[in-house]
Amino acid sequence: MASQKEIQAMRLAIALSARGLGTTSPNPPVGCVILDAAGAIVGTGYHERKGESHAEVHALAAAGERARGGTAVVTLEPCNHVGRTPACRQALLHAGVARVVIALIDPTSRGEGGAAVLRAAGVDVEVGVLAQEAWLVLGDSLTTLSTGRPVVTLVRRLDGSSVSEADVRKLRLGFDAVLYPDGQVEEAAADSHGRDILHLPAEPLLGDPTDALKALYAGGVRFVLLVGGSALADRCLAGELVDRVVAFGADDDQGPRWFDAFGLAGFDITRIAREGGGLRVEWRRATEG
Ligand SMILES: [Zn+2]
Repeated sequence: MASQKEIQAMRLAIALSARGLGTTSPNPPVGCVILDAAGAIVGTGYHERKGESHAEVHALAAAGERARGGTAVVTLEPCNHVGRTPACRQALLHAGVARVVIALIDPTSRGEGGAAVLRAAGVDVEVGVLAQEAWLVLGDSLTTLSTGRPVVTLVRRLDGSSVSEADVRKLRLGFDAVLYPDGQVEEAAADSHGRDILHLPAEPLLGDPTDALKALYAGGVRFVLLVGGSALADRCLAGELVDRVVAFGADDDQGPRWFDAFGLAGFDITRIAREGGGLRVEWRRATEG
């Protein structure tokens, strides 16, 4: 059983992990908190970019010697592979943590990931702590591992008018790339992923939308903001390639003009909020787990 302090630390780790949304792709956004042997927070960290340190390494560096005999609380199973950076399970063992608390198992580890290795080395490992809450940040990234295409969020106006640059600006920081009505793609926040991480097509994506999304995935993109009001967006909707919809409506707008926006078949509304002088409505595909 996770202690109250560990649960609190996991919530902090989840919040920290969200700071990596829109910059870690193709890696997942992960957060980590280190508690010392007495349960006090001695280090925090999150993964920011592929090729840079993982969350555990940042948090362990902050904790230093105080990690010894303590607990690492991490939103995703620590990695067991040596890639551009050393494996995190090795860093955890080297730091001498006695216990590792994990929210979600890495679906690519097939039982041979960091959790198994840590257990074999005598570390107390607990899995599944606040898994649903951690999924709020990690879920989309992990889902793309099996779909092989980015999660697509369509942004539109409730009254069917053109999406403004201001609408895009409200959302873009949480995305890897923006796909415009003319098929052009750009990094959602310039240079946020680091050098040579995202490989975006130079030519506009105007062909088959399934192929277009596969090409984006191959280029490292996991979260796409699709600007609505275009033939391309309509083709993505018709092809059931849109996972989320966000629509904005002005406060002085009249309801009847919004009617068409609510004819979105196959989607459930997940959030309605008054925001920034208007209404924001969010949908997600109903068949999504
Ligand atoms: Zn790692």
